Amino acid sequence: MIKFKNLKEIYSILYNYYGPQGWWPIMSLKEDRLVYRKNFFGPLSEDECFEISCGAILTQNISWRNVEKCITNLKKTNFLSPQKILNASSEEIHLLIKPSGYYRQKTLKLKNFSKWVIDQGGKLKKIFKKNPKEIRKELLNIKGIGKETADSILLYAGCLPFFVIDFYTVRLVNRVYLINVCDYEELQNIFHSNLVNDFKIFNEYHALIVEHSKKFCKKELNNCKDCPILKICLEGKKYVNKRKN
Ligand code: SF4
Repeated sequence: MIKFKNLKEIYSILYNYYGPQGWWPIMSLKEDRLVYRKNFFGPLSEDECFEISCGAILTQNISWRNVEKCITNLKKTNFLSPQKILNASSEEIHLLIKPSGYYRQKTLKLKNFSKWVIDQGGKLKKIFKKNPKEIRKELLNIKGIGKETADSILLYAGCLPFFVIDFYTVRLVNRVYLINVCDYEELQNIFHSNLVNDFKIFNEYHALIVEHSKKFCKKELNNCKDCPILKICLEGKKYVNKRKN
């Protein structure tokens, strides 16, 4: 049976190596850029909760750079509110989120999400006070919201402990433990049952995995020798040993 207890150790190593990541970044109109607030875990304002949720929807299948452009457009034109998005014509939103690639689908998703927020009373912060599992179920019932997006909204906008499983997490866990698990819930459960149930840790850990996957654990295994978690990673050790022989 595989022991995932050292998930905590991996977290500590990555945290010491990369430092706090300050997710989720918020667009500052004053500074005209997205700001990463290190060691800030709330409380978030209603506007920030909505902005983060929109970012989580927009980031599906596109690079973060393009999400930044969309969020900047939405914020500068004062469209970042559920009522504004719902009342706007699809064409207006299309123009603002064109950098998101699938802008027609994503406009629908933003509108569906905005409608849900309004149907629930219009305030995300109030919604996040309900039973977390129930909110997750409701989010997953919104057309266009999948598990990764729902958990990103719950974790980063709701400050609720749902570990986000993305492509990077799947790849890293499978490499570190030499397993072949792709099921979302199964992977999420590995994190939930081996870490303290603390949204701050989940917040940093997911961001650290993304950072580590961009810097070291890329598609090709070229960087294992210098990887900070090599001593724990089974795939990395296998790769390094093979190259020695
Ligand atoms: S040792 Fe290699 S495979 Fe393992 S986490 Fe590091 S870069 Fe990825």
